[in-house]
Amino acid sequence: MPRPADREAAEKRALALRREVSHHDYLYYALDSPQISDSAYDALVRELVEIEEAWPDLVTPDSPTQRVGAPPSDAFEKVEHAQRMYSLDNAMDLEELDAWLERVRDSLGDRECAYVCELKIDGSSLALTYRDGILTRAATRGDGRVGENVTANVRTVRDVPLSLRDDAGDASVEVRGEVYMPKTSFERLNEEQEEAGQSPFANPRNAAAGAVRQKDPSVTASRDLATFMYALADSRSLGLSRQSEALEWLQAAGFHVNPDVVTCADAREVHAFCERALEKREALPYEIDGVVVKVDAFAVQEELGHTSKAPRWAIAYKFPPEEKTTVLRGVDVQVGRTGALTPRALFDPVTVAGSTIARATLHNEDEVHRKDVRIGDTIVVRKAGDVIPEVVGPVLGMRPADAQEWHMPEACPSCGEAVWRPEDEVVTRCTNAACPAQRHERLLHWASRGAMDIDGLGEEILRRLEDTGLVDDPSDIYRLDLETLESLQMGREKQDGARVTLGTLVAGKVLAGVVESKERPLRRVLFGLGIRHVGSTVAEALAAAFTSIDAIQEAAMTEPDSPTEDPIAAVEGVGPKIAASIRNFFAGEENRALVGRLRSAGVVMRDARVESARPQTLAGLTFVLTGALARHTRDEAGAALKALGGKVSGSVSAKTSFVVAGEDAGSKLGKALELGVPVLDEAALERILEVGEPPAPASGDTATEPVE
Ligand code: NAD
Repeated sequence: MPRPADREAAEKRALALRREVSHHDYLYYALDSPQISDSAYDALVRELVEIEEAWPDLVTPDSPTQRVGAPPSDAFEKVEHAQRMYSLDNAMDLEELDAWLERVRDSLGDRECAYVCELKIDGSSLALTYRDGILTRAATRGDGRVGENVTANVRTVRDVPLSLRDDAGDASVEVRGEVYMPKTSFERLNEEQEEAGQSPFANPRNAAAGAVRQKDPSVTASRDLATFMYALADSRSLGLSRQSEALEWLQAAGFHVNPDVVTCADAREVHAFCERALEKREALPYEIDGVVVKVDAFAVQEELGHTSKAPRWAIAYKFPPEEKTTVLRGVDVQVGRTGALTPRALFDPVTVAGSTIARATLHNEDEVHRKDVRIGDTIVVRKAGDVIPEVVGPVLGMRPADAQEWHMPEACPSCGEAVWRPEDEVVTRCTNAACPAQRHERLLHWASRGAMDIDGLGEEILRRLEDTGLVDDPSDIYRLDLETLESLQMGREKQDGARVTLGTLVAGKVLAGVVESKERPLRRVLFGLGIRHVGSTVAEALAAAFTSIDAIQEAAMTEPDSPTEDPIAAVEGVGPKIAASIRNFFAGEENRALVGRLRSAGVVMRDARVESARPQTLAGLTFVLTGALARHTRDEAGAALKALGGKVSGSVSAKTSFVVAGEDAGSKLGKALELGVPVLDEAALERILEVGEPPAPASGDTATEPVE
């Protein structure tokens, strides 16, 4: 946008921009649901900054240029940060990065300055407070002064240490970093969202922010979050004098610290890091949106200070946005395994973020109309969070007169049956259970990696098996024999016109894969059945709770006395909605028959460990393991306690039943003594594992004095 001609025009434009930016801040920070791309948002902010720089008296205290994030939501307890959490200033290209490096150099005069380059993790800011080595609080950034208390949720994130490693002793510190969602988990979550007829998340960052801000911690736990921690609020009190030292301290204290960190001496080295980061971006299993360059020495950081919004000693170099334009040639409709019809944009191939794309999901009918894309339009495409191809919207100024609006077909494109869209859902479905497209997707899902992982049974072979009527449902796969498979005619023809057959070698491989898959654990069978809302995480929880499909079926077919007594809904991460879907599945006679056929075909429908499971004699007891054990690793000892029904926790509280203390036990031992929790040595632990019984508190012969 050209700069406004005069002050009056600038004031009007600044007001409009402030309103627009505040609106997008709300959508982004409060609802985790942005409606415009980050680069479009950054362009609006940039324009506002330029106006405010040219007319400084137009800066208002509530201008988004002066603020960090957005106020915390009322849905959470508000917590004040002991030290402010800042945002970062952006450098949109290498030129702006150089200008910042120069400013830092200028203010240092002759003194040497080193920089630490880190990847800019595209997640959500997190502050973790540890008191005497124990995690006591986790908070979001909020507006930088006040954040949201999300402790219960963050405790479920597996790589967040509940207590600091012994080396960090009993430190009382505030650790800061980023909680993020790995790319594969993001893709899976969005598939599940779509399955459930809910809107997908715009990118992994908003999905992570949403997952941390859940009312129910079990939902957070099911979202597969991870962290990278990169700062200590008060490093100086720990005797640290550089960012590079702080990162080492964090690593030693047990935090997940990103390994891609380099200390650079000058602009040339910083550029090289940025270039390498851009190259490896695509291959990383998590999303990054730039590089953060920080002055290494804390003394220099203090000298440079902060603006109201960001430190002057750090800058975020943002990767160039990857958006391209192309022409929308058509929209086809895909039929999923639950019959969901998903429109898909077909466009001229373009290269975005390193790979060529020619299709992108349009999610559902409403989304097509909301975006107002029409066939023939020039459209903007990108990769959402740089992973999944996405249509951003049409370039309206280039719309041809004959551009065609798209509507959901009234009949299923696969079976021709009428389609149906429930009133309160965004998803249109084909309800014909015999629909060939659904059948194909169900079979593909059964054989897929996350489910039964049938080696060798790829899409083409499956399709032929379906077309020839040999396979109609998953149980048919287990009836195939070598003779049938090796003579299976494939689509291709030989030079003499005869059809290519699968042949003995490939057939043998497929058969071996099929036989091997019969032994898959229950969670994979449950996931493979494709019960609505039962993704891999829910399947795992159900398998752990029930251990056999018979037990699940029995629970599903028995009406609970009251909703609160439903044993399926009571499983952590399940709840009433998923429980209803499981009941609905087993209510279907055809589904129960399928389970029966799979069982007769030899598919193991129970976890083998059930037979050998030891009585759960430690149920209800919580153990904390600390210090080094001589005969086991802590993981092994933990697994052995769990096999007897015990719970193993990372931190000591009044609810802890026993603390097992090995050599050099640290703060947890201290905490146990303080709270009066019984402390056991390794010999006592061995006795428990041997006899399968907790020590009797009255006898006093098993609980021993702590090992010093
Ligand atoms: P930011 O994401 O640009 O940068 C600051 C944040 O980076 C820090 O708070 C920290 O959480 C994170 N970070 C990641 N790795 C880091 C590392 N190694 N060291 C230090 N910090 C690291 O700033 P922001 O204030 O969180 O958000 C502003 C940005 O959010 C905008 O530039 C825009 O891209 C996006 N946004 C988009 C919309 C929209 O509608 N699309 C709306 C609001 C904000």
